Amino acid sequence: MSGTHWNETSADVIVVGAGAAGLWAAERAAREGRSVLLLEKTARTGSKVLASGGTRCNLTTTLDARPAAALFGKSGARFLETAFRVLPPRAVRARFEELGVPTVDAPLEKIFPTSGRAVDVRDALERAALTAGVRIELECPVERVEPAPDGTWILAIAGGRVARAARVILCPGGKSYPRTGTTGDGYRWLDDLGLEEVEPVPALAPLQSPAAWVRELAGISIQEGEARLVDAAGVVIGRRRRPVLFTHRGLSGPGAMDLSESVARARVDADRKRVRVELALRIDLAPDLGADALRALLLEAGGRAGGPTLSRVLPFEVPRRLLEAVARQAGLREPDPRANQIEREARTRLVDALKGLSVPVDDTLGFDQAEVTAGGLALHEVDAGSLRVKKHPGLYAIGEILDLQGPIGGLNFQAAFATAELAGRAAAR
Ligand SMILES: Cc1cc2nc3c(=O)[nH]c(=O)nc-3n(C[C@H](O)[C@H](O)[C@H](O)COP(=O)(O)OP(=O)(O)OC[C@H]3O[C@@H](n4cnc5c(N)ncnc54)[C@H](O)[C@@H]3O)c2cc1C
Repeated sequence: MSGTHWNETSADVIVVGAGAAGLWAAERAAREGRSVLLLEKTARTGSKVLASGGTRCNLTTTLDARPAAALFGKSGARFLETAFRVLPPRAVRARFEELGVPTVDAPLEKIFPTSGRAVDVRDALERAALTAGVRIELECPVERVEPAPDGTWILAIAGGRVARAARVILCPGGKSYPRTGTTGDGYRWLDDLGLEEVEPVPALAPLQSPAAWVRELAGISIQEGEARLVDAAGVVIGRRRRPVLFTHRGLSGPGAMDLSESVARARVDADRKRVRVELALRIDLAPDLGADALRALLLEAGGRAGGPTLSRVLPFEVPRRLLEAVARQAGLREPDPRANQIEREARTRLVDALKGLSVPVDDTLGFDQAEVTAGGLALHEVDAGSLRVKKHPGLYAIGEILDLQGPIGGLNFQAAFATAELAGRAAAR
């Protein structure tokens, strides 16, 4: 890495943003024999890698390429098909092993470095780039990206400096976690270049609830539940079977965060129309038990001698405070009544509450708390086989600036690395 003592510089390939995608792409292009300059705004590379996975870095997934891509929605899956075929999750894993970072499987299809240290992942990426000959320039915020009349690209850097290249790979990330350097600079460049953008919104963010009772449950987690996001008419917008956590502001955990993009989009829409957001996260506390089976269980217990209490009848554990909330939502007079005292209608309401405890949500906690930005450069602007921006020869876009977002579980790094692999190769060609 070098200090910034030049006013004008050039390279075959310039990569903008030394995050997960930029480090990977720069190294890939340099390995093909190109001179590569990697420009990073902040004083270090890979800030989000360092912060990721609770500083353990969930670097990819145990899923195969196809099911992993399917988690990006229909258009995302189609777009990522080639990238995930060329660099499937197991190839990412193998590459890190080669770079001296052995990995281990973890629950929920996650993969972490065996050391449990995100810094090992960042250091390996940085070392590989430097070894391949990449020139990394820190504290070099790119301000403008412009095509020159001779077909090359000119990058204007803060402080009046200029960098030129025939090929430029854009990977400045999104605008989530702005304290790590990602403040949405890339969206301005997309506008200037006349490229279509899907409105960026926070994603993989905790949810905010206006209901006071939710806060009383702060600290309680539901490990085996299924979360369904529903609108005011009860239409299911999305569902996810992942742990959910109650917090002082609402809901967190992957089950809630994976559904946050839809909440953010509803919020934007409601603000535009000046109406309230009327969404709820319905949490099924017993996704493996059908409503009829649950009803039968309660009915059978109601006929049993001694009349066991609800908490004893349920074949899954429900913390006391959560059971109280369920009972309240079902309109029961007592939080833990005896099964033989639950009347027919109350039983129906109780089953409904256990199979869909309804938590009102009206927003996410915003870009400050969002792990990724959903939206960005519209996928139809980009060739999925090379990540080349179709309208602009020599320009590539990869990683989070694209309108691609996966759920929690190493999917977003997988997408960053796989799109970087294709762009790195293509830009060096
Ligand atoms: C707290 C947290 C935890 C996460 N955990 C995981 C996880 O465990 N697994 C997972 O798969 N994903 C995780 N993610 C998401 C993951 O970090 C992103 O999907 C990924 O970093 C995107 O890679 P990227 O290279 O496109 O962008 P980034 O990693 O955001 O990198 C963009 C880089 O560009 C630089 N930059 C921005 N503007 C400019 C400019 N004008 N000039 C020069 N440089 C610029 C930035 O400083 C930054 O270094 C997490 C995110 C957060 C915030």
